[in-house]
Amino acid sequence: MEPQQRSPLLEVKGNLELKRPLVKPPSRLPLSGSRCKRRFDQMEDVLEPEKKRTRGLGTVTKFAISHHRAPVGTTVPQTQGQAAAPKVPKKTGPRCSTAVASVLKNQKAAPAAPAQKPGTTAAPPKLGGKKPSKRPGWDLKGQLSDLNAELKCYRERTQTLDQENQQLRDQLREAQQQATALGAERRTLEGELARVRAQAEQGQQELGNLSARVLELEERLGTQEGLVQELQKEQLGLQAERRELTTRLEEQERRLQTSEAALSGSQAEVASLRQEAAAQATLLAERGERLHGLEMERRRLHNQLQELKGNIRVFCRVRPVLPGEPTPPPGFLLFPSGPAGPSDPPTHVSVLRCDERRGTLSGAPAPPTRHDFSFDRVFPPGSGQDEVFEEIAMLVQSALDGYPVCIFAYGQTGSGKTFTMEGGPAGDPQAEGLIPRALRHLFSIAQELSGQGWTYSFVASYVEIYNETVRDLLATGTRKGQGGECEIRRAGPGSEELTVTNARYVPVSCEKEVETLLLLARQNRAVARTAQNERSSRSHSVFQLQISGEHAGRGVQCAAPLNLVDLAGSERLDPGLALGPGERERLRETQAINSSLSTLGLVIMALSNKESHVPYRNSKLTYLLQNSLGGSAKMLMFVNISPLEENVSESLNSLRFASKVNQCVIGTAQANRK
Ligand code: ADP
Ligand code: MG
Repeated sequence: MEPQQRSPLLEVKGNLELKRPLVKPPSRLPLSGSRCKRRFDQMEDVLEPEKKRTRGLGTVTKFAISHHRAPVGTTVPQTQGQAAAPKVPKKTGPRCSTAVASVLKNQKAAPAAPAQKPGTTAAPPKLGGKKPSKRPGWDLKGQLSDLNAELKCYRERTQTLDQENQQLRDQLREAQQQATALGAERRTLEGELARVRAQAEQGQQELGNLSARVLELEERLGTQEGLVQELQKEQLGLQAERRELTTRLEEQERRLQTSEAALSGSQAEVASLRQEAAAQATLLAERGERLHGLEMERRRLHNQLQELKGNIRVFCRVRPVLPGEPTPPPGFLLFPSGPAGPSDPPTHVSVLRCDERRGTLSGAPAPPTRHDFSFDRVFPPGSGQDEVFEEIAMLVQSALDGYPVCIFAYGQTGSGKTFTMEGGPAGDPQAEGLIPRALRHLFSIAQELSGQGWTYSFVASYVEIYNETVRDLLATGTRKGQGGECEIRRAGPGSEELTVTNARYVPVSCEKEVETLLLLARQNRAVARTAQNERSSRSHSVFQLQISGEHAGRGVQCAAPLNLVDLAGSERLDPGLALGPGERERLRETQAINSSLSTLGLVIMALSNKESHVPYRNSKLTYLLQNSLGGSAKMLMFVNISPLEENVSESLNSLRFASKVNQCVIGTAQANRK
């Protein structure tokens, strides 16, 4: 600590040291208490002989009175008080005073008793210690003289005593004053002492506080030192980091300079590229104009081509023999080559039927009957899904160009309708059916056309028609598999468009969404399936895709539905079967199916023959598809055939139905342009 900054406590201590001598040295007063006391004792001593003397005087007086035969009563009061002494002459009569005076005169020769010193015990004066010889009674004069001498002696002593008394009184007063002064001084000192003690206590307390503060500060100092060390370490780290950053900054600056140089070069390049881009944009606009013209021309030609191919086309597809199935006899199904040879895709199919019931007259088995059919295209077993799709891709594109398209799969149960439409086992891309392939194709063309300013949107629905009731295959939640009743209604009053109430219409824009919908439809069908009734094969599944396209720049719009229909099994009920309760139900189902399938055939015929009345209303299926079957629509029917000999009867039925459809020609299609 700095020497100049004395702590308050040290100051207090210094003060205490300075003030201590104030108490110790002897009082500056002239008299100490003891001295004063002694003086009082002395005063007592001084006073005491006086009393004694007074008493002695009394005695003397008595003595004198005893010797004084003269008026005794008058002398006694004179000797009782000191103040009375001078009055003696007054109270004595003139005669008496004369007598006393004469006595005193006579005693002049007698030695006066020496004045007693204060403090010494005064023995009563021996009046006439050496008793003068007794004066004879008659010697009155002598007696008087003795008495006077004695009186004189007393007076002197009285005087001396008065003086002493006065002196002692003065001393007493002085002592009292000193005592008062000392009392005052004592009180002052006591006050000062109390103050000094309080200061000392305060100092002690402050000292305690300061010690605590010192400890605290030392502790803080320790912490601060630790912190300082940490900061120093951190500083070292930061310095290293700073050096590294500086190096990096320099590197970055170098790069920046290089980049700036490159940038200025690029800017010049950009300017020239902008000019070029402007020229290209002009060119592009011209080309766009031309392209649009070409696109419209392509659509027209495409449609012409489709029309040339026929608005109603029939493809025959024979599925392969599945593992575990009996191999059909050789030549049971024949696929003769086209006119252009084996490279020509087949369009003919021949079925050889051996009818054992028919016999020749000779009894030998009748030769097999050959049934020949020709279609727009025939797909023998082993034709891949991609091969099949290739043939219909152009037709699907017609839907994008604004022409309604309807693709059916017709055939007996197990002939491969669902395989053709939806595909084989999930996860096998080769086995993908027409629906996912068609949609993928549409999405990719729509994407290409978006470059020409076309915007397309697709909305999918998937319903099932079973026993003339419509059920949503895309139902979710509580409606899933319940088959809540749906109705086919016009979209609005006076509208040609049809819609299915309670059915979900789901916007789709990618394959993944379509996959999800197909999976949902499969689940819904699985829920409805029962052991006795494979309902999916007893109902028509209709996948509808509403396609809407718009060229905002030119105000052109087009809209058309693409329908992909997996028809119910076309097989007839075996007439030989016993009609139990299950079979009766089955019979009702079959009649409904047969009715709706024959209605489809009749509708196509009526359209082909341009009849005024087309019986769309005769079945839910034709009623729902009426907008996709009429004049401007394009229709394709797959007739799916089983390769097995045991199914030959049903195969021939299907082929005959398909042939009738194939003979139909529906009038020139018109694109639904607005
Ligand atoms: P449908 O729907 O007409 O009742 P499916 O499509 O269910 O008939 O076909 C019956 C069976 O034959 C299925 O197991 C299916 O996978 C198989 N199948 C059908 N067509 C083909 C084909 N072209 N290639 C391979 N397997 C097929
Ligand atoms: Mg099926």
